[in-house]
Amino acid sequence: MIDLPDSAYIHIPFCRRRCFYCDFPISVIGNKTEPSQYSPIETYVEWLVQEIALTPNLGKSLKTVFFGGGTPSLLPVKELSRILETLEKKFGFSQGAEISLEIDPGTFTTEKLRSYQRLGVNRVSLGAQAFQDEILQTCGRSHSVEDIWQAVKSLEEVGFANFSLDLISGLPYQSLQQWEESLLEAIKINPKHLSCYDLVLEAVTPFGKRYQAGEFPLPTDDHSAQMYRLAQEKLTQAGYQHYEISNYALNGYQCQHNRVYWENRSYYAFGMGAASYLQGSRYNRPRTRVDYYEYVAGLKNTQDQARSSLNTEQDYLLETLMLGLRLSEGVSLSLLSYRFGEEIVSRLFSLLLPYQDQGWVIISDEKVCLSDPEGFLFSNVVLTSIFEKFM
Ligand code: SF4
Repeated sequence: MIDLPDSAYIHIPFCRRRCFYCDFPISVIGNKTEPSQYSPIETYVEWLVQEIALTPNLGKSLKTVFFGGGTPSLLPVKELSRILETLEKKFGFSQGAEISLEIDPGTFTTEKLRSYQRLGVNRVSLGAQAFQDEILQTCGRSHSVEDIWQAVKSLEEVGFANFSLDLISGLPYQSLQQWEESLLEAIKINPKHLSCYDLVLEAVTPFGKRYQAGEFPLPTDDHSAQMYRLAQEKLTQAGYQHYEISNYALNGYQCQHNRVYWENRSYYAFGMGAASYLQGSRYNRPRTRVDYYEYVAGLKNTQDQARSSLNTEQDYLLETLMLGLRLSEGVSLSLLSYRFGEEIVSRLFSLLLPYQDQGWVIISDEKVCLSDPEGFLFSNVVLTSIFEKFM
């Protein structure tokens, strides 16, 4: 089965400061918001569009484009325009293509948002994270709660109907009441989509060096589980469909781009630190600007996309399960049988039976999926045992 990409991820690696939990490949540029101070971004975009231009078009026009970061809303309008023009020229856009862009409070004006919209951006994702100034400060976020409300006002003024809001649970000193307050404020705003991520402690970050998972001021495991269940309860009551472990959407507003990842389908990716997935291989780009520029210069000379790792059949099976089980609809058993054979499906079946008895896994004639919220909550346990068995 040939899986040709029709999605592209674009990494915009600039932030005003680094949040204390973040290990993403980014460059900190402070408060350089005047056009005359945009030079690192202009230079980066220059290399980025070269990378796009040098990449072979595998045949399909783009159905989804996702600008992630970093903070893509630091992009000046003319730079965003340049990237979109290059993508259009190279691949073309399908009718009604979803073009998403991550935005952070305090990094854009109403006018800038309107210009983004005119360029074709039709979905934005606002990184609110929490609705308490003390928590935002503890996390090293560069915005306040007031900035969130200002951002929401701009979204309303521009008429950006399709927008998502990001929240994080399990933050230091965050109480269950504060988490509930953040959820209720988010519901009041009525975004079409909500992402609720649990804090992941990365060793290289200030949080990773300062705190131990499960120990004060981080919540205990039980406390984190309560936060997860509370989000599921409040958001589903408010009419959101819990369509993926960490994502909720009103009917018709699931993120089409992220579904490509969860369905383990091919996609292009461009920019520093970005990883594409094409014809069974992952291509990882360098995580610093200097190395990335060298990489693009190398592409010019050799047309060779190095740094790939070819997936084996077993990798492909594990990825299909691990990503697919994140979705509420789970993984199709007939698709698994067709792709990997009956024997694999019966092995999987016997492995999952104890979790079915526990109520975490639901197995029907057509599919296997995790229950909501308990199966989602203990997905790591289920996925780890699948991983161990199949490795
Ligand atoms: S804004 Fe996002 S990408 Fe930038 S430092 Fe914070 S978490 Fe990382």
